[in-house]
Amino acid sequence: MKRITRGLVASLTAALMATFLVGCGKPADESSQQAVTEVKPLIVYSSRAEHLIQPVFDLYTEQTGQQIQFITDKAGVLIERLKQEGESTPADVFITVDAGNLGYAAAEGLLLPLQSPVLAGNVPAHLRDAKNHWVGLSLRARTIVYSTERVSPEELSTYEALGDEAWEGLLCLRTSKKVYNQSLVAMLIAEHGEEKTQQIVEAWVNNLAVAPLSNDTKVMEAILAGQCEVGVVNSYYFGRMKVKAPELPLALFWPNQNLGESSTAGVHVNISGAGVLRHSKQATAAQEFVEWMASDDAQAIFGGVNQEYPVNPAIAVDPEVKSWGDFKASELPLSRAYELQPAAVKLMDRAGYH
Ligand code: FE
Repeated sequence: MKRITRGLVASLTAALMATFLVGCGKPADESSQQAVTEVKPLIVYSSRAEHLIQPVFDLYTEQTGQQIQFITDKAGVLIERLKQEGESTPADVFITVDAGNLGYAAAEGLLLPLQSPVLAGNVPAHLRDAKNHWVGLSLRARTIVYSTERVSPEELSTYEALGDEAWEGLLCLRTSKKVYNQSLVAMLIAEHGEEKTQQIVEAWVNNLAVAPLSNDTKVMEAILAGQCEVGVVNSYYFGRMKVKAPELPLALFWPNQNLGESSTAGVHVNISGAGVLRHSKQATAAQEFVEWMASDDAQAIFGGVNQEYPVNPAIAVDPEVKSWGDFKASELPLSRAYELQPAAVKLMDRAGYH
């Protein structure tokens, strides 16, 4: 009798171990053989486009056998869907862009805090949520772009100086409705406080050549068309344009450099990133997958496919991206981008930036 009981315990343990190893969350009363062969796919909801995530997912499947299924949509749509689905969601991992969006998903209670030495070791602290709900996986700079025909880089210095008289009627900006600009202004508030930031934003508005444009590419097109001379864009949009037409007379400028040893300022960076969903039925496997995306193998392609920078500082930057030059990035914690977003939105409205 005792022996039979032991045997049962041993086989149940084996089944549980197999379940754990493949991360498929199968009930323990199925045989270990079934658990190994019927690995459940991980389900990802992603606002990052298919052509940017597919190569990364394929590599994971190749290395581990773990299948990944995904849907893509706008960040806001996916967050609303996750809220509606609640505990019955089939999704395990959420991938999106901008700390503002990830912060919102966390604030809505959708993300599971991750205790992960792997993520802590591979991703700098300021690119992770202070409460560990999300982690950055690729880095983009929101920086100054200028006409190389009409501007010399010596004329440029900081984001703040785009409000100087010298740029009157020469500045193009994307609409303040986009989360990228909400995060940029939130980080200016983190650095300068609201009063000074409002003065900066009002000065930008005074210098606008045309009403705020609907996207970053249009900002660069307006510079090329001679409507303005300088603008602010995410670095990968510049990269996409340069790939299509390398001779375009546009260049990136890295602002807020050399502001002193003690300064945390630098180029405003943001991330694309991920979190494990609170109602995932296979959270362990989901966390392993997120940890893998911060590993050397995944980092070598995750940012590169979109001409972004790796978050893992040990990984080499894509040569084309590297050719745009090195810069010091702001090290303010990106959690602040979400925390200060409501203040940023109200401030931009008061400053007449629409
Ligand atoms: Fe974008």
